[in-house]
Amino acid sequence: MNGEASSSSAAELKIHFIIVGGGIAGLSAALALTRVGHRVTLLEKGDSKSNRGPGGLHLAPNGTKVLFHWGLKDSLKAAGLTSHPLLFSQYHTGQLLGIQLWDDELLRETRGEFLLMTHGNLCEILHDAAVSQGAEIRYNAKVVDIEPEDGAVKLASGEILQADIIIGADGERGLCRRLVLGREERIEPSGLGLFDLQFGSQTATQEMAQEEKRLLEKVQGNPVYVAMGNSAGATGYPIHQGREIAFHFFFRAEFPLDGGWDDPPTAKPELLRRLPAEMDPNLYHCAHGAQQVTRVALNKYEELDDWVHESGRLLVIGQAAHPIPHCGIQVASVAIEDAAVLGKLYHHLTIPEQAQDFLYAFQDLRKQRCAEALDGEVSMITFITTPDGPEQDARNANMRAKYRAGKNVLEGDTSDGGEGEQWVQIRTIFGYDCEDEADNWWVQWGLLRARANSDGQNRQSQMGVFSWSDMTVLSVDESTS
Ligand SMILES: Cc1cc2nc3c(=O)[nH]c(=O)nc-3n(C[C@H](O)[C@H](O)[C@H](O)COP(=O)(O)OP(=O)(O)OC[C@H]3O[C@@H](n4cnc5c(N)ncnc54)[C@H](O)[C@@H]3O)c2cc1C
Repeated sequence: MNGEASSSSAAELKIHFIIVGGGIAGLSAALALTRVGHRVTLLEKGDSKSNRGPGGLHLAPNGTKVLFHWGLKDSLKAAGLTSHPLLFSQYHTGQLLGIQLWDDELLRETRGEFLLMTHGNLCEILHDAAVSQGAEIRYNAKVVDIEPEDGAVKLASGEILQADIIIGADGERGLCRRLVLGREERIEPSGLGLFDLQFGSQTATQEMAQEEKRLLEKVQGNPVYVAMGNSAGATGYPIHQGREIAFHFFFRAEFPLDGGWDDPPTAKPELLRRLPAEMDPNLYHCAHGAQQVTRVALNKYEELDDWVHESGRLLVIGQAAHPIPHCGIQVASVAIEDAAVLGKLYHHLTIPEQAQDFLYAFQDLRKQRCAEALDGEVSMITFITTPDGPEQDARNANMRAKYRAGKNVLEGDTSDGGEGEQWVQIRTIFGYDCEDEADNWWVQWGLLRARANSDGQNRQSQMGVFSWSDMTVLSVDESTS
């Protein structure tokens, strides 16, 4: 561990958690819970390589601030790049529409940074930190059955493990979500699809006009490119210290419900078929130059009423609880927030009754926030894939005007004196401090409940010495008089 590690004392009562799934949510939860003294066994079906992707990942300030707080700043900065500008351009011409700069003031306010890295980078950092805190992480450990009432988990090998609480971090198509829902889920196409790819940065700039190369050299701070087109959009940014570029192509169209990170990366012919005839030659070149392309379904999932299984011993987190479109700005950070809130809550564990209460507290604390993050992500994808027409024209004209005026393109208009809708969303989402929210919950509700619980315990222990011989049996008449 390194950086600004905050010391974290251990919970008074320590329990055993099984975490199903070793993605970002599962690994972060393993770290958050071991940091506060609990025993964690994490079960991941992948072999430690297959479950770490080569694709690019944004970490927003609300996520990085948690990881910095956990002492991971140095490792994150060694693996990733701090990004300041977003460059918005037209998908079909490549023409620049404007720039959004994450300036120091905004970042200071959020106490985080905007980091770019790969899925594999982040998983490795979280894995190493969790192991160093004592988490047991088992790969090739596919969970095939769960008996939540008994806290029991069965592996494909036939081995059965037991814990006090099971955390389901096995993604939107996982077993845990199905168990909590209690039936098969109705999944619908969202009308959006995503292709993920990477390639050498030399390839990316090969076809660029001199003018574009000069602009690129001028823009410091690891820009994220956002190309906005007719029902299509793309984001691209440097990974592996700039040696490669990660690209995510988004399309508004009908897509099959299947397709995910486990699939072989063979979707390049499908991506090329979907590219419009008229497009920025750089983008075209990037799509053609990619070695491997993975198609990831962006489906509409049901909103779960409860994230806690009726047994009170299984909780879903991350994508298993609140699926958010992949490869957006928030999906990884929201999973990290989930883990941080779990860590904060279970830090206060003093009596067994709280173990279940905290699962419901987690749900209360997280539902609204995750719904807002989902809305923000959907609205950002909608914004960049707006079809040709008056709405797109207005968006582009507005961005150009702000760019000419030297303003951030997502900021509010001076004409109405207010802040732009996108900007307000960004500030709110980036500025959120999930650990503060969990602390506030504890002060407002948790402490009261803990006192009530401990009074209950005292009453129970007095009741434990209750004896019929202490009682005087009254006749009906005496009792009512
Ligand atoms: C291999 C992989 C590569 C990815 N690459 C990128 C990327 O490049 N960019 C990006 O933005 N997002 C990527 N993602 C998605 C990203 O991790 C999520 O969108 C989000 O950040 C965190 O999701 P999560 O941890 O809740 O769920 P997920 O990321 O879906 O992780 C769930 C984990 O549970 C494991 N699992 C599922 N079922 C079982 C079972 N029965 N037993 C044991 N383990 C099980 C899976 O193998 C997986 O590791 C990737 C996900 C995966 C799994």
